[in-house]
Amino acid sequence: MTIRQLPDTLINQIAAGEVVERPASVVKELVENALDAGARRIDIDLEEGGVRLIRIRDDGAGIPADELPLAISRHATSKIASLDDLEGVATLGFRGEALPSIASVSRFALMSRRQGAEHGASLEVDGGRVGTVAPKPHPQGTTVEVRDLFFNVPARRKFLKAERTELGHIEEWLRQLALARPDVELRVSHNGKPSRRWKGEGELLSDVRLHEALGEEFARNALHVDHFGAVHSTGSGQGLRLHGWIAQPAYNRASADQQYFYVNGRAVRDRSVAHAVKQAYADVLFHGRQPAYVLFLELDPRRVDVNVHPAKHEVRFRDARLIHDFVYRTLQGALAETRAGVSMGVTD
Ligand code: ADP
Ligand code: MG
Repeated sequence: MTIRQLPDTLINQIAAGEVVERPASVVKELVENALDAGARRIDIDLEEGGVRLIRIRDDGAGIPADELPLAISRHATSKIASLDDLEGVATLGFRGEALPSIASVSRFALMSRRQGAEHGASLEVDGGRVGTVAPKPHPQGTTVEVRDLFFNVPARRKFLKAERTELGHIEEWLRQLALARPDVELRVSHNGKPSRRWKGEGELLSDVRLHEALGEEFARNALHVDHFGAVHSTGSGQGLRLHGWIAQPAYNRASADQQYFYVNGRAVRDRSVAHAVKQAYADVLFHGRQPAYVLFLELDPRRVDVNVHPAKHEVRFRDARLIHDFVYRTLQGALAETRAGVSMGVTD
């Protein structure tokens, strides 16, 4: 066997295997880019569960015409420039591989107009073959179009599920986002029909959005939590904050389908935190039942490593034990307080 350098398109397709599992992962990557660009409103148009078309339009900062080719190049990013930046990264993206990966497994178009620029421009990529930048009228912001996902990767295409299933994955991801970013307006259409609209609200998650996202029962049983703590291991005490909504034990689930946990605005799965929550509910939930919650943990980005997995579903905490205990104590305290309130006849 001879050792060969792989062609760029193949390298991107290999990387796509890690970040692009299905249409919902494309939506995730593109919407996160829109958020990193400061978008206030994001329009998401889908056809056939996103397999035929995913079009994401935002009103964010936009990309200068001469940087469009860079945006779809591997390892090119505007979000970090050094290891130091990486260690304190506050944007959702930083790896510079989503756009080239997606463009290598679809018919892809990127259109944008930078804030202050007179003209917009577009660049098309067909299954990894890159076209040339052309002028194109576009409002300030960016549109990304992804057609025929996996058209050139039959092995992947085969694993796509029915339209409704793929749409369901996208909707679930959008719900997860809507809970974290009530300040951003999201409009979704499917097969040409408006299917969902999340109106932009304030910075704080309102009862309305909570109700819309998780249902009236959850909203009615939700306890608000907002608690501060400190990390002292460096001697310089840094802040921890846990806030959000947890359901009173009377409202519980057969599965873990309403458990939303975010670290600095990023939705993550974390076994240790899930364990802490479960423990806090241990005395008040029937065996086998699952609590429901939407919790946001905020801490210094330097104390959490987000570069653990290409799709960033997991993070690593520097002070994992301490965070476990902080979550446990906060929730246990909140649950104990309502029990005390109830036994004193306080109903509100
Ligand atoms: P990353 O998000 O990790 O930087 P991507 O491949 O997702 O990598 O995007 C590459 C670059 O393209 C980003 O760093 C950003 O500069 C630019 N970009 C992508 N999408 C948008 C967008 N919607 N608005 C503005 N810039 C964008
Ligand atoms: Mg990105």
